[in-house]
Amino acid sequence: MSDVYERLARHLDNLPAGFPATDTGVELRILKRLFTPQEAEVALGLTMMLESLPAIAERINMDEATLAPLLESMSKKGLIIKSSKAGEDNYMAAQFVVGIWEYQVNDLNKELIKDFNEYVPYLMKDLIKLKTQQLRVIPVSQSVSAEMQVMAYEEGEKIIKSQSKIVVAPCICRKEHKMVGEGCDKPMENCLVFAGGAYLYESRGIGRSITQEEALKILNEGFEAGLVLQPGNSQKPLNICLCCGCCCQILKNMKTLDKPARYVNSSYYAVVDAENCTACGVCEERCQMDAVTIDEVAAIDRDRCIGCGLCVPTCEYEAIRLVEKEETEKWVPPQNIVETYINIAQERGKL
Ligand code: SF4
Ligand code: SF4
Ligand code: SF4
Repeated sequence: MSDVYERLARHLDNLPAGFPATDTGVELRILKRLFTPQEAEVALGLTMMLESLPAIAERINMDEATLAPLLESMSKKGLIIKSSKAGEDNYMAAQFVVGIWEYQVNDLNKELIKDFNEYVPYLMKDLIKLKTQQLRVIPVSQSVSAEMQVMAYEEGEKIIKSQSKIVVAPCICRKEHKMVGEGCDKPMENCLVFAGGAYLYESRGIGRSITQEEALKILNEGFEAGLVLQPGNSQKPLNICLCCGCCCQILKNMKTLDKPARYVNSSYYAVVDAENCTACGVCEERCQMDAVTIDEVAAIDRDRCIGCGLCVPTCEYEAIRLVEKEETEKWVPPQNIVETYINIAQERGKL
């Protein structure tokens, strides 16, 4: 039988978001840093469906008394997902991203970060070109005009106001960059997680529970700092990420493409009114996607503009505005996160 880490890598690669093999074996080094061989065997027995201890014990042929503490410690380490409802615990597999990696935010070390960054290009290579992304881009509310038809699922404030449970967690992308002397000084505590995701984060000791008002304040601080709003890619998102183009592994890798706007799930783009533009350069500084160039006036490369709206309200001369894409080009997110991951699995040929 092949090595348990090779089997676990294949198992994770068969989950919707994937875990592709490399020619260097870095993905196996990462798994060895995170899982003991016994934990790897247990993880191999979990699926994307929540299951009880007896059901898992039977499948992996392990007695319940041995398995119970293992499942408990693995869920605390963020290697699997535990759900507790009405006094009953159930467990399921966690994907590598978004999932196992993000749950390590309080357990990072330089060796793990080094391996992760070596692995990111392999991980992102196919993921960032899928039709359905794990995150989508919505415009900051300050850039939205009365004429625009913005859906409720595209408004950060409305998404927050519909939540009864919100946790804010540290941003792993900025944290891991900072720990190796890179990245930026933009706010660190602003990953907003909702509903079941929020309980999961809280149970792992990642992040703290906040009110809707605090979450709205974080949204506004993100706007001030020039962070792109990226909710989970469904009409009922379980999170909103506030991302910078220098640390966010999605935006950073999207930026390396010639035409990132083709792959980002967004319904807007910005245009410049050349007559009003003074070439002051503020929009160029605000843009996280290098979509703006300044010559005599500002020019926006539509193939790079992801419609985040960060450049719009900070133009003192009202020379830049957000417009809606044609109906056929607009992004309508899947109804819920289950549909999102079914789509991703189909697009990766795993269903
Ligand atoms: S996706 Fe964005 S907010 Fe989330 S961890 Fe990365 S940079 Fe931070
Ligand atoms: S911020 Fe406004 S005025 Fe300044 S360069 Fe951009 S579009 Fe022109
Ligand atoms: S030009 Fe840049 S900042 Fe403005 S909407 Fe496009 S991507 Fe966002």
